[in-house]
Amino acid sequence: MKIKSALIQFNEHGTPVAPAFDDVYFSNDDGAAETEHVFIKGNQLHKRFVECKNNHFVIAETGFGTGLNCAKAIEAFATFRQQHPEHVLKRLHMITVEKFPLNRVDLERALQQQPSSETFKTSLVNQYPLALSGAHRLSFGNVTIDLWFGEAIEMFASLAQHSANCVDAWFLDGFAPSKNPDMWSQDLFNVMAKLSAPDATLATFTAAGFVRRGLIDAGFQMQKAPGFGRKREMLVGQFADSTTDFTPKPYENTQQPHIAVIGAGLAGANIALSLSLRGCKVTVFDKGDTASGASGNPQGGFYPQLHAQISHPSMIQALSFDFAKRRYQLLKDLGYNYAGDFCGVLQLGFSDGVRERQTKMKANAPWPEDLVQFVDDKQASELAGVALNQGGIFFEQGGWISPPELVNALLKRAQEESDVELRTHQQVINVETNDNGADVTTVDKTESFDHVVITTGADDFEFDYLASLPFGRTRGQVESVPATTETRSLRTVLCHKGYFTPALSGRQALGSTYVRNDTQTDYRHAEADTNLATHQKALPDTSFVENIEHDYTGRAAIRMTLPDHQPVVGAIFEKNIGGRMSVLCGLGSRGLTTAPLMAEVLASELLQEPLPIAKELYEAVHHTRFAKRAAKRS
Ligand code: SAM
Repeated sequence: MKIKSALIQFNEHGTPVAPAFDDVYFSNDDGAAETEHVFIKGNQLHKRFVECKNNHFVIAETGFGTGLNCAKAIEAFATFRQQHPEHVLKRLHMITVEKFPLNRVDLERALQQQPSSETFKTSLVNQYPLALSGAHRLSFGNVTIDLWFGEAIEMFASLAQHSANCVDAWFLDGFAPSKNPDMWSQDLFNVMAKLSAPDATLATFTAAGFVRRGLIDAGFQMQKAPGFGRKREMLVGQFADSTTDFTPKPYENTQQPHIAVIGAGLAGANIALSLSLRGCKVTVFDKGDTASGASGNPQGGFYPQLHAQISHPSMIQALSFDFAKRRYQLLKDLGYNYAGDFCGVLQLGFSDGVRERQTKMKANAPWPEDLVQFVDDKQASELAGVALNQGGIFFEQGGWISPPELVNALLKRAQEESDVELRTHQQVINVETNDNGADVTTVDKTESFDHVVITTGADDFEFDYLASLPFGRTRGQVESVPATTETRSLRTVLCHKGYFTPALSGRQALGSTYVRNDTQTDYRHAEADTNLATHQKALPDTSFVENIEHDYTGRAAIRMTLPDHQPVVGAIFEKNIGGRMSVLCGLGSRGLTTAPLMAEVLASELLQEPLPIAKELYEAVHHTRFAKRAAKRS
C-alpha cells in the first residue's frame, strides 16, 4: 500500500519539525549528544556489545524520522568493532518503524542539519525506499537497517509472528507521549515483550508515568535515570520475563555453518551472497555452468508485475523490485560489473483488457509515482526513442540486465565476502538429511553439510522432498535478433504480451513463448515466428517492429512455476529434521525481481535473524502454503 509522506517544516535553526505533533525530530541544541545520552548510554550499548555471545545484535526503534538514532548506533558499533576486531559479534541489525516517512526532498534537507557522517547520509539517500507499507531492507556495510513503513504496532505485530524474541535493545523514540499517545499504547508494549530477547534492554527520553507503568505491565523492569539537557528524568528498562521458552538459535555453537546450495542460477547466486554476508561457508553445486538454466538468457527485463489494486502478489513484486534494485546498484557501486541498464521499462496498453487495467490502476493510484507513471503515446515514444502509437505505464527505475553476468557478479562478491566454493559441472544425485545436517552426493563423493538449500529450477533431477509441491514447468524461447539501424534506437525495454530490449553487443532480446509442460530446450523456428508475430500483433503499424530482422538465433529454457505464480521459500521438513534443508525456487520468469529479497528472507530465517517481510507476504511465499490451503479446504 502506498504510504503518506510526513508534512514537515523547518524551524529557525533548520531543524525539521512535525506541525501535526508540534514537536521536533531531533534537539535544536545537540541532537547527537541527546541520542548518545538517551539511547546509546541508556541501553549501555557498548557493554552489551562486548558481552554479546551471538554474531549479530538487534536494536529496534519506534520512529525512524531522519535516521539520526540509526546513524549514532552505527557509529557506536563501528567503534566497538575497531576496539574488538576479533569479537564474535560481527553485525548490527536495526529494525525501525515509520508511519509518516519524509519524502526524499525533505529527507535531503533534514539531513543537511542532522549531525551524522556524510557517508551515512549519502548511503541513506541512495537507498531510500519507495513509499510502500511494509519492510525495506537497507545495507550499511556490516549494519542492516530494516525500515518498516507503517503504524508501529501493526508493523511490530507482523514481525512478532515470525521473528519473536529477536530484539536485544529498544530505542523508544516517537514524539512526546502527550502529543502522540498512539505510539505509546499498552498493545505496543505487549508486542515489544513478544519481540524481546531474554536480556533485552530499553531506553526512552520520556519519564511519563503511564509509559513506565505500561512497560512494567508488559514485563519490563523499569528505572528512572537522569534525562538529557533540561529534561530531569528519562526511563531505562530490562526485559524480565521468566515464562517464555526461548528456543536456542540454530548453529549457535557453529562459528561458521557450512551450507550447500544446489543450483547456480539467480536464486543460487543470491542465496550464496546472502549467506556469505552472514559469514557462512558456502559450496554451490551446478550440473552445468553458472546460469545455465532459466537464468541464462542474455538479457532480461527488470520490472515488477503490478495489479491495478493492492494485492499480496503485487506487494511481493513491488517490495522485491525495490530491494533487488538496491542490491544490484550496490553491486555496481562496489565495482562488480555486469551488463545492464536501468533505462526504464514501458508496459504498453496493447489490448482492450490491458488498457482497462491500466486505466483502473491510474484511477486507484495504489502505487507511488516513483514506481509507476502513466504515459500517452507521445510520451511513450519520447521515452522509448522510437515512434509508438500507444501509451501505457512506465517503470522509471526498471530496465534490463544480463542474468548470466549478474549471477557471476553476485557469486564473485559472495566469494570475496566469505568462503564460497563454486562447483560447476558437478551433478548432485542425492540429498539426505541426517541428525546434524545433510549429506550431498555427487557422482564422485558424498559430503556432509550443516544445511542444504535447493534452488534448482527445472533441473531433471527430482528431489523427493519437493515432489509434494505443485510445480509446473513451462518452456520459454527468447530470440536474439540483430539490431538494425531503426531497432537500435530503442532506449527502454518494451513489454506487452512479449518484450523487446535495447541492444547489447549488436543484438536485441525478443521474447518469449510460454509452452506449458514442455521440458525440451531445443531451438524452434516455429516459436521464433510466434515471437515475431506476437510483436507485430501487439505493435501494429509500428515501423521499427516491421524492421525487425531475424536470423533464427535464440535460446530456450524451462521455468519452474507454482499455480499461484509465487516463489517457494523456507526450511522444509522442519518438524522431523529441524530444518536441515530448505528451498528457494519457483521464481518462474521473475527471478531478476524476486530472487534477492527471497534470498534475504531465507538467509534470515536460517540464521534466526529478523525477517525482512510482513507476515502475510511471508505466508504467501512459504512452501507450506499449499498444505495449509489443502487442509483448509478439507
Ligand atoms: N528517531 C528519529 C531520528 O533519529 O531522527 C526521530 C524520531 S521523531 C522524534 C518521531 C518519529 O515517529 C516521526 O518520524 C514520526 O513520524 C514517527 N511516528 C509517530 N507516530 C508513529 C506511529 N504511530 N507509528 C510509527 N511511527 C510514528
